[in-house]
Amino acid sequence: MSNFLDLAGIGAGPFNLAVAALLRNKSLSHRFFDAKAEFSWHPGLMLPGAMMQTSYLKDLVTPVDPTNPCSFLAYLVENKRFYDFLHAEQRTVTRREFADYLAWAARRLDSIQMSSRVQSVVDNGEFFELDVHGPNGREQVLAKNLCVAAGKKPNIPECSRPFLSDNCFHALEIALRNPDVSGKRVAVVGGGQTGAEVVINLLSKHWGRPQQVTWVSRRSNYLPLDETPFTNDWFTPEYVDVFRQLSPQRREEVVAEQKLASDGISPDTLKELYQLFYRLVHLEKDAERVALMPNRELMDMSHRGDYQLQLENHLLGEADGTEWINADIVILCTGLCEALPPCLAPLQEHIARDTDGRLLLDDAFAAKLNGDESGRRLYFLGTGRTSHGIAEPQLSLSAWRAAQVVNDLLGSGVYDNQQTSNFMKWITPQTQQAAVA
Ligand SMILES: Cc1cc2nc3c(=O)[nH]c(=O)nc-3n(C[C@H](O)[C@H](O)[C@H](O)COP(=O)(O)OP(=O)(O)OC[C@H]3O[C@@H](n4cnc5c(N)ncnc54)[C@H](O)[C@@H]3O)c2cc1C
Repeated sequence: MSNFLDLAGIGAGPFNLAVAALLRNKSLSHRFFDAKAEFSWHPGLMLPGAMMQTSYLKDLVTPVDPTNPCSFLAYLVENKRFYDFLHAEQRTVTRREFADYLAWAARRLDSIQMSSRVQSVVDNGEFFELDVHGPNGREQVLAKNLCVAAGKKPNIPECSRPFLSDNCFHALEIALRNPDVSGKRVAVVGGGQTGAEVVINLLSKHWGRPQQVTWVSRRSNYLPLDETPFTNDWFTPEYVDVFRQLSPQRREEVVAEQKLASDGISPDTLKELYQLFYRLVHLEKDAERVALMPNRELMDMSHRGDYQLQLENHLLGEADGTEWINADIVILCTGLCEALPPCLAPLQEHIARDTDGRLLLDDAFAAKLNGDESGRRLYFLGTGRTSHGIAEPQLSLSAWRAAQVVNDLLGSGVYDNQQTSNFMKWITPQTQQAAVA
């Protein structure tokens, strides 16, 4: 295998898998490196019954290349479950099945190299030099272009950091930790989909029978993900195109307004939760076992025997809303945040950023390299929420995003990435000038 590549990828999660699938059989030397021994998709949150929030047709390839052998339909057919799948009439599939599909696709792609951590990347002015720690020891790889999709890191509230331990941890690890919560008071912090799934599993005694579960959410209530048709139009290439024309400040405002289009709890999960609480309180007469606390922000924590969590009840507005709860176990369902992988540290000063420190990504998701005239491309996938909109950290546009990268490398005709909506007029020629200004 050559150590001179046209394109190297850091990470082989779904975003880079989509690029690899679209580059299959194309005349461009490429390899994607992933540190994991074998493919898995967020194994620490693979909870029983967890469902996808995105249609299985928004897979690695179908929206831009439906005949690609890495499609979800090809997976169904090869695994002899096409008719059973159809007859099950599912709108979305379980995360377990989608992860199995991704692993199946990863196995089909020769360019995916697992057990290979990219330890550092240096720019020698002509190539990116990757120091890869792989199954056969260290390897130096020179790549003309680089595509980074290395995922996000857990968002840990500042006040919880000193207490991280077996009894206070981020939910991203919960399925791997398998905590024994029997007889314990558990505080779940965070009112999004992950918090909801953790609460369901706690109350379903998946990790033993907790004495009490307290669910704290900063949001004003346990709010639904908006999965309705017009909202889904925000997750389209046309919308990204319009979004790109807005000023940076306006983009920030728009992304904030659209929060519940990507961050709420699936309506099916909300119904399941409510029915669970109903059974618990009215049929099992066990109201003491659950406490739902929306509108509360975690402000501080301490540990004396058990954990003391200081909350601020925002429903009270300006009035003093300080409240305290005690817990034996604290599970932080506080989301993920964007972060570049540490291996890119030597490149940091070469990468141009805006005045707020954000990457300046172009339409093809390539960052600007300070003072570089070589034409090399450094792509970042999944990190451009404020440059490309709320679809950016999601799977919805992963095939389209990958096609943008492939077209940028090989020529715009490789994949027809233009799709038109006939009825959503996000802007008109009259307002286009104003948007750019
Ligand atoms: C539990 C969960 C469920 C989600 N469900 C949905 C959903 O239903 N719909 C949706 O649209 N979005 C969903 N998302 C959001 C998003 O689609 C996923 O987070 C997605 O996995 C992001 O893909 P990725 O390839 O960027 O990163 P990841 O899947 O995180 O993969 C990154 C990979 O990079 C590797 N890596 C990192 N650093 C290095 C290095 N230095 N060297 C080599 N390898 C490295 C890691 O090992 C990892 O395999 C979900 C997110 C989570 C956490």
